Amino acid sequence: MKNAFLLGVILVVPAALVIALVYSLVRFFWSMYQDVRLYRELNDIQAQSEARREKRRLEEQKRLDNGCEHTFDSALGGFPPGVCPKCGIAKEKPVGQCDHVWRRKEGPVMGSVCEKCGKQYRAE
Ligand SMILES: [Zn+2]
Ligand SMILES: [Zn+2]
Repeated sequence: MKNAFLLGVILVVPAALVIALVYSLVRFFWSMYQDVRLYRELNDIQAQSEARREKRRLEEQKRLDNGCEHTFDSALGGFPPGVCPKCGIAKEKPVGQCDHVWRRKEGPVMGSVCEKCGKQYRAE
């Protein structure tokens, strides 16, 4: 009877050790897997935002590439700030639906009007 108890202890102790080892191994690999997954997700997000930025940059370039030698910083009268007075487009695509193309408005008041949406701009 005593021998059986001893045998039980001798069997249980290594079994517990093996279980603990397996458990910590599984935990280790699980956390490594989580790290790899997180890293991959971060990489994906980074790649996506880089692709988006690149696409935006190309679109911006295409938008400005209309054969005009823009002069965005000239403060020629009647145009909103940051707009090229030769072709009428803004350096940065404006927020909103319309990518305005400004044309000088005829008349006594210095101002311009968007030929696409009709938005008025009056120089102060
Ligand atoms: Zn221009
Ligand atoms: Zn417009």
